Amino acid sequence: MQIDSKCVAVEQIGDVALIKVNNAPVNALSRAVRQGLMLAMDAALANPDVAAIVISSELALFSAGADISEFAGGNLEPGLPQVLNHIESSVKPVIAAVNGSAFGGGLELALSCHYRLSFAGNKVGLPEVHLGILPGAGGTQRLPRLADAKTALDMIVSGAPTPVTALPGVFDEIVGSAAELYDAVFAFTKKAIAQGPRPVSAVNLSFDGDTPALFAGYAEQVKAKTKGFFAPAMCVEAVKAAYQLPFAEGLDEEANLFMQCMKTPQARAQQHFFFAERAAGHVPGLNKEAQLRDIKKVAIIGAGTMGGGIAMNFANAGIPVTMLEIKQEALDKGLALIRRNYENSAKKGKLTQEQVEQRMALLTGATDYQDLSDVDLVIEAVFEKMSVKKEVFTALDKVCKPGAILASNTSTLDINEIAECTSRPSDVIGLHFFSPANVMKLLEIVRAEQTSDDVIKTCMKLAKTIRKVGVLVGVCFGFVGNRMIEVYGREANRLMLEGATPEQVDRVIMQLGMPMGPFTMGDMAGLDIGYFVRQSRKAFIEHDPSYCVVADVLVEAGRVGLKVGKGAYLYEPGDRKPISDPEVIEIAARKAKELGIEQRQISDQEILERCIYPLINEGADILQEKIAQRASDIDVIYVYGYGFPVFRGGPMQYADETGLSHILERMRHYQSSLGEYGKHWFTPSNLLIELVEQNKTFASLNK
Ligand code: NAD
Repeated sequence: MQIDSKCVAVEQIGDVALIKVNNAPVNALSRAVRQGLMLAMDAALANPDVAAIVISSELALFSAGADISEFAGGNLEPGLPQVLNHIESSVKPVIAAVNGSAFGGGLELALSCHYRLSFAGNKVGLPEVHLGILPGAGGTQRLPRLADAKTALDMIVSGAPTPVTALPGVFDEIVGSAAELYDAVFAFTKKAIAQGPRPVSAVNLSFDGDTPALFAGYAEQVKAKTKGFFAPAMCVEAVKAAYQLPFAEGLDEEANLFMQCMKTPQARAQQHFFFAERAAGHVPGLNKEAQLRDIKKVAIIGAGTMGGGIAMNFANAGIPVTMLEIKQEALDKGLALIRRNYENSAKKGKLTQEQVEQRMALLTGATDYQDLSDVDLVIEAVFEKMSVKKEVFTALDKVCKPGAILASNTSTLDINEIAECTSRPSDVIGLHFFSPANVMKLLEIVRAEQTSDDVIKTCMKLAKTIRKVGVLVGVCFGFVGNRMIEVYGREANRLMLEGATPEQVDRVIMQLGMPMGPFTMGDMAGLDIGYFVRQSRKAFIEHDPSYCVVADVLVEAGRVGLKVGKGAYLYEPGDRKPISDPEVIEIAARKAKELGIEQRQISDQEILERCIYPLINEGADILQEKIAQRASDIDVIYVYGYGFPVFRGGPMQYADETGLSHILERMRHYQSSLGEYGKHWFTPSNLLIELVEQNKTFASLNK
């Protein structure tokens, strides 16, 4: 029996046909694999010497699922559901040897087999919900027939990988290790031949007893937990159909719900984001010969808010860190805070006490630069002042070994200027973490004029080591993320002068899907941060006397935000819930009067457009200036750094979906309708104009 399609091979071993998928790198179930599986099944079924069929993989994983690039269309015959139904209807028993992780279509393939074996430590899952869709090849109908309703719902709605050991109903046998799997599978074939085919579809489910209440309760929970997302509720509906309908009709309902999801802008956005995240890891044009540098020891300068969080990332990855402060007292305080953070994780059961101690043991303190002579990477996180940064980099230049990478966590300062004060500017780079640095996934990797290719490569790889998503950006004020957010904050503040309230602005932004509005965010971060930045950038704003004036008044009155219980809102002690404050509205009204701004009712739509469209416009300028490599990188920065809803794909995808010509039209509208203010701040980006003229999207620039 010689079926050797490019990516599916069949081998006969005794009376068993062993079908192995081999489609590197992840065994995506592309058309060639589906065709190969059909042919292999037909050959095994036609061969009288074959009594049982085993489906497995030539690679270390079973299959990562559908080939997402096929979502764009083309000839998809045979479809995965058709292939899986063919496998399930086999008159000879089919056994899945799940020799590695099986996700999405990969797990659905295993579920279409009559028996499944795997090994302890392996994980499977149905992550389709992360792409804005649901499992569309029988997963929602077959999984509940083997696992209980709650397990099936949890897996399909969360998309999370689940250990096979937590799925006793799904797996007929779980051996101790991957190495033992094939022996167990071949021994099992005898049992399978004796028992015959056992299609999952034949299992009866009924919608009675506690089941209706379970689904009703689950649907409510999902609605609350996944606010704004469309697919999770559809996942619940699909699983419910498994209980309410006969198998074939359940499959039809799954297909129907799948198509409903697939047609939404959300599915487009989430699939866009899937590719965006992967694209962000690639830096075209780097010297191929550039070698990665070894990062075995790290130093952090400054054990404050950011320094502490950054240090935790490295300790979590098992990399030793030396933390340097000028005063022992500051060092002790910083280390104690890190310990407190770890202890809190231990209290929540996220770490064992032993792990806390292991991580703390990787952290050492220093007050003398000489202690940094052997580190491979230094990340500076001291006060945001050029003179202090220069002092630190001059000291580092003196003591650090040749080849050490010297990085700054600055949010706004010019990395080129920092690099210039060293004798080795090619080793200097920005590593811009987001607060809280041990939690937020984004790392902006800031390439300065002279940063060498091997330093960039090393930092891109390092991001992965410390489980961050690294995005390469160029030097400008605020880099990508903060430069765009500045525009958004400015508009939110100006809207308050024109008559909107902080609550209204925050509500509109939250309706878009952001986790919080600009005023709540400002209060949380501390209004003093923006205030100090404004003080150092007076020239940038001197033509606009209205620029963030209410925020200035609040800071000058000591209302710096949540940490003091009042900012744009009021807060009860120990409570983060914002309470509206009429005094702030009065300050806005008074300032508006002083500035000759007439207050008016502002529509929610205007708030949305004025906060988000200039932010997108700034993104367009950033692209034109090549500060970001691609539009999708900006989306990654916004989703991971600022909580932009992934179901909108990021601001640039949101712009494409909204229509660039509409955004341009609204920019021009505000440019002409807001007087001097509009003329100054609403100038449309040349790139936006060009794209509209050429009827193109931001996504078209990604290719
Ligand atoms: P912070 O005030 O909490 O911490 C700064 C620490 O640096 C303090 O502990 C201080 O004692 C120490 N320090 C000051 N000068 C020093 C010196 N010469 N040598 C050694 N230690 C020194 O500030 P932070 O919020 O952690 O910010 C640090 C840097 O990170 C700044 O550049 C800031 O712009 C940037 N950043 C901050 C955030 C944020 O949200 N806080 C986010 C991203 C980046």
